[in-house]
Amino acid sequence: MLDVGTVYLVAAGALLLVALAVGVRALVRIFREGRERRRKRREGELDRYTKDPEYDREPPDPEAASRSTCPQCGAENDASFAFCRECAAPLGPGA
Ligand SMILES: [Zn+2]
Repeated sequence: MLDVGTVYLVAAGALLLVALAVGVRALVRIFREGRERRRKRREGELDRYTKDPEYDREPPDPEAASRSTCPQCGAENDASFAFCRECAAPLGPGA
């Protein structure tokens, strides 16, 4: 006789088995990929460390970005300034 408790247990057990199988498959894939990478690294096929173009790039100068040079007198001005603080010449792209 099948009661609700038995049906629930069977369904839960089946779901657990499916989840376990999927999890084990993923772990095996990760393990195989790692082993393959180690082998390639040993044979020199692969660089020891992955080169990151983002990392190798020159860091942007925050000082330069926040300053602008006056085209009239060459004085350094804050980028937010509309006019030079030395000679009052207009600054920015509209100048
Ligand atoms: Zn100026």
